[in-house]
Amino acid sequence: MSNLPFGLVIHGGAGVIVRPELTPELETQYRTALAETVDTGYAVLERGGSCLDAVVAAIKVMEDSPLFNAGHGAVMNAEGVCELDASIMDGRTLDAGAVAGLQHIRNPIALARDVLERTPHVMLIGGGAEAFAWQLGYEFVPNQYFQTDRRRRQLALARELEHRTAAHPLPRHERVTFATVDDNKYGTVGCAALDRAGNLAAGTSTGGMTNKQYGRVGDSPIIGAGTYAKNATCALSATGHGEFFIRSVFGHNVSALMEYKGLSLQDAATEAVRQMAELGGTGGLVAIDRQGRIAMPFNTPGMYRGSRVAGGPTEVSVFGPEA
Ligand code: ASP
Repeated sequence: MSNLPFGLVIHGGAGVIVRPELTPELETQYRTALAETVDTGYAVLERGGSCLDAVVAAIKVMEDSPLFNAGHGAVMNAEGVCELDASIMDGRTLDAGAVAGLQHIRNPIALARDVLERTPHVMLIGGGAEAFAWQLGYEFVPNQYFQTDRRRRQLALARELEHRTAAHPLPRHERVTFATVDDNKYGTVGCAALDRAGNLAAGTSTGGMTNKQYGRVGDSPIIGAGTYAKNATCALSATGHGEFFIRSVFGHNVSALMEYKGLSLQDAATEAVRQMAELGGTGGLVAIDRQGRIAMPFNTPGMYRGSRVAGGPTEVSVFGPEA
């Protein structure tokens, strides 16, 4: 094992997270879950495990938690159904796997990894993705497993708001945003990791956005948008209003700004957020490079996030810069 730095950075979604809405009890629950996620992924890296293993292990913790918009606790689409998307990328080989529109797979990130490792393809969707999972012996869960009362309330509120504004339709790209004013955050989960062998990987998992149209796919499973990893530059996972991350080719933009313009990770990440915001989008990302430097810029009031880089403590934050 080398003495190279190693570590990981995670997020549990960006958005308008404000003190009055986040009770102290709920904030403690989030911070505890974020720390557990960081520690789970870090333990894999510390014992010499691969960055891909660390990314899957960390994301599974958040998929299994009802707090985050991924797996159990995912937001619901306009039909009241949870449709889940996930992706993972290997920065060493640029191999990638992604799934979209799942309705019955408990841990979408695990299936994304199987697409990466066991198929010649990058992305499988809907029924085809679930048929592949069936062949591999995955356990199927009813869609109700993902649904929580909190997400049902958010969907009801989104529908009510939509109904009230029916007479005054919003511009095309604002419709989804408006439908998510519910608790004002996105909640997708993601992880970017650097292992002791010096390799980078990233993954993202989500239920998308509340009240999304049936069949809508966001940036999270799109390689180069919500997820990207390349050993020569960085590994990253994004969160926010997916349409803008797709249109700005967000993840690849961060990597390209480093590779072609020589920007540091922090500068490239900040510039990509600025360009995405210029289109009208909101959100952020977590990223790590091969030196173990991390960046977590966002243009929302808060982003659930955490990190641990070799030798350092587990750190978690929710709001803007926390001293
Ligand atoms: N980016 C995700 C999507 O648009 C949402 C999120 O980040 O919470 O599907």
